[in-house]
Amino acid sequence: MNDSHFQATQAQFDEVAEVMSLDMNVSRRLRVPDRCFIISVPVRMEDGHVEVVPGYRVQHNDTLGPFKGGIRYAPDVTLGEVASLAMLMTWKTALMGLPLGGGKGGIRIDPSKLSRLENQRMTRRYTSELVGVIGPNVDIPAPDMGTNGQTMAWIMDTYSQMKGYACPGVVTGKPISIGGSLGRVEATGRGVAYTIAEAAKYLEMDLTGKKVAVQGFGNVGTHAALKLNKMGCIVTHVSDVKGGYINTKGFDVPAAVAYAEAHGNLKGFEGVQNECSQKDVLCAPVDILVPAATAHQINAEVAMNLKCRILAEGANNPVTPDGNKVLKERQKEIFLIPDILANAGGVTVSYFEWVQGLQNFFWSAKEVNKELSKIMTKAFLEVVTYQKEKGVDMRTATSMLAINRVAAAMLARGLYP
Ligand code: NAD
Repeated sequence: MNDSHFQATQAQFDEVAEVMSLDMNVSRRLRVPDRCFIISVPVRMEDGHVEVVPGYRVQHNDTLGPFKGGIRYAPDVTLGEVASLAMLMTWKTALMGLPLGGGKGGIRIDPSKLSRLENQRMTRRYTSELVGVIGPNVDIPAPDMGTNGQTMAWIMDTYSQMKGYACPGVVTGKPISIGGSLGRVEATGRGVAYTIAEAAKYLEMDLTGKKVAVQGFGNVGTHAALKLNKMGCIVTHVSDVKGGYINTKGFDVPAAVAYAEAHGNLKGFEGVQNECSQKDVLCAPVDILVPAATAHQINAEVAMNLKCRILAEGANNPVTPDGNKVLKERQKEIFLIPDILANAGGVTVSYFEWVQGLQNFFWSAKEVNKELSKIMTKAFLEVVTYQKEKGVDMRTATSMLAINRVAAAMLARGLYP
């Protein structure tokens, strides 16, 4: 696949496979996705004309259970990016000990330019094209950038109409009214904060008064900021698609989140002391940095200029391969919590939602958050123990642990036929 995102993820896999002397037959199977679907999605626009937009679903691996992963609507999404994210999902579910595989989907469109009806028609047509290859026991989509609970409700309804009965288990991240889980919306950001709390304990760092910078103030960034603020940290730097914002005393986070939700960004928020560039936010003099925007934001130059002690990857793939080399060299100064660990809270609560749906028995928000915290803590401790044992950097250790689990299951199942 001739795409820089996929090639970077595949190269990272090859590197880890070599370090761990992975069985060559397993490695050959895992470095490529099981299946890729490319769909031309025709959409009738409000003025009557028909647009045709490219849609994708990539199913990377289902050795441990049904393929699982979000659907992204973005103007620049490519098959390679989706394939790269699908591979990361396989490692993420394995790392968290979930009986799920890895998949990802996307449509190349800017959803902010669509009317609600156009978005609904596009989502339903995309779903109908995939109806034979998704399902509660096959492949279970969820929200990602540009999609939300409403998108999942349309997917669930389209799939159910085509099957002839209600199938809530076909997606997670659904609205509560149709079987969604309490705590799902906040789960990824909360999970980021839980892993930071564990890292602070590990580093014997008291979180009280520690300064935080958050890149991207959407679902993940806002919920991470809210939880870290509750844990005693102060959020001094934030960025979004419009720019960077500073408050050296610490933002009133709930007020900032309410403003961002109402206006789409923080421009004009009265709690901002100074504006700055988005890069200044990444390189701010803070204790904790949470990139929670798009991929490949931290290149070698940015990595050299980072000042944080803990870097918790809320976003998927926020570091370029060159940036990662620098982070390896700086691993004693910067403690990295890699994406497949830091942002695994979302898929973990998606798993809770799937389980609750299959059992038709629903948990309280308190139970969801308690179980989430338990699973995130367990995974964090497993990674740091494994990292010390193997003497490798945090990203390599995290990937090795996850890949080992998938490889063991593949070897146990064997190759058909
Ligand atoms: P979102 O669309 O809700 O928010 C994205 C935010 O990033 C917005 O505030 C946007 O303004 C900002 N942004 C975009 N480009 C930026 C830039 N160049 N600089 C600074 N800010 C910028 O998306 P989200 O769901 O919060 O996802 C964010 C990241 O987290 C993605 O990489 C996604 O794959 C990853 N992730 C999300 C989930 C989830 O459950 N939502 C789970 C795991 C990983």
